[in-house]
Amino acid sequence: MSAVVVVGAGIVGASVGYHLARQGVPVTLLDQGPSPATGATGDSFAWIGGCGGDWPGGAQDLRGSVLADYRRLETELPDVSVRWTGSLTWADAQAKRDSPLGPGRFWVGGSDIAALEPNLRNPPEQAIHAPGDGGVDPTATTDALVDAARAHGATVIHNSVVTSLEMTGERVEGVRSSTGFHAAVMVVLAAGTGIPKMCEPLPAHLPVAASPACLVRLTAPSGLVKTIVASPGFEVREVRDGDLLLTLPRVGSTSATSLQQAGQDALRRLQTAFHGSDRCRVLGCRIGSRPIPAQGPVIGYVSRDRSVYVAVMHSAITLAPTIGRLIADELVTGRPAPELRRCRPRSLP
Ligand SMILES: Cc1cc2nc3c(=O)[nH]c(=O)nc-3n(C[C@H](O)[C@H](O)[C@H](O)COP(=O)(O)OP(=O)(O)OC[C@H]3O[C@@H](n4cnc5c(N)ncnc54)[C@H](O)[C@@H]3O)c2cc1C
Repeated sequence: MSAVVVVGAGIVGASVGYHLARQGVPVTLLDQGPSPATGATGDSFAWIGGCGGDWPGGAQDLRGSVLADYRRLETELPDVSVRWTGSLTWADAQAKRDSPLGPGRFWVGGSDIAALEPNLRNPPEQAIHAPGDGGVDPTATTDALVDAARAHGATVIHNSVVTSLEMTGERVEGVRSSTGFHAAVMVVLAAGTGIPKMCEPLPAHLPVAASPACLVRLTAPSGLVKTIVASPGFEVREVRDGDLLLTLPRVGSTSATSLQQAGQDALRRLQTAFHGSDRCRVLGCRIGSRPIPAQGPVIGYVSRDRSVYVAVMHSAITLAPTIGRLIADELVTGRPAPELRRCRPRSLP
């Protein structure tokens, strides 16, 4: 297969780039940022397997593969390291009481919860335990994928703002960017919330919402939080020994004062919930912009001649290793991946 340009070095573009390059495809990976993961990926809570309890549209068909694909990546790339801690959810447990839990999810009671999270001040009576869930450092994981793509021959160009697709009729010839023209026989758009604008010259219309979400980083005594905790007021997990990530449900403005208040709010919630959190300190707070297509993941060709391909989804930290593998196989063999059947862009006439 000849030259493919991948636009976007978040977790999606990095995974597609890696999986293509390891099959010998000449890949150029372009990103407007100075390094990988400067978009939603770097601001992610990066819980693998949870998907906020929601697997919309075609994500359902990928659900069975995501944990195995992360285990595969761990063996392929030593710098990919998952904290296989399991998760405990009681944020919306009441609402789920009467609906069946997905595979690998179990109801547990107060004593089990206290054993799993011994520092909780007031363990709930019940929670959903997913022992197979894990979490990653999203930036380190994306870096590892980009480095591995490069090691397999990919060209990686940062500070490259892609301004347009270069088309002859409906056929893509490459992309125009702040680093010049990059020729390609195929362009894969993995630019998250930047995708709708790039698709403007194409017949496909892709509604992708940019949904804000708040991520707070804190220092904490190592092991204060042992699993991934999704409680009604926040989600929290240890991303590295002594460093926590915490998401808040509501987002104020992005002003410095508002972010500082959000950080203090996060600290208060943590200290209310966990013994031993007096020494926790806020390291920073950011609002990330999550790319959210309305009907679930959108993955497939967006030009009739199959020269432009798109990959955009929420919960992409969870899904990236699986969709990277499937997309690369599909592009290299020309055979559509059945698992992606329900992810296809719908509006291509
Ligand atoms: C607070 C928060 C918590 C989250 N929690 C989870 C979770 O627990 N589990 C989970 O699975 N997911 C979670 N997500 C969602 C997940 O982070 C995203 O789905 C994922 O990061 C999207 O990856 P991406 O590669 O598609 O997009 P991005 O990471 O945004 O990457 C797109 C890249 O394209 C580049 N780009 C855009 N336009 C251009 C252009 N014109 N030219 C060149 N480059 C361009 C950007 O610089 C960027 O690097 C969370 C997100 C947030 C913000």
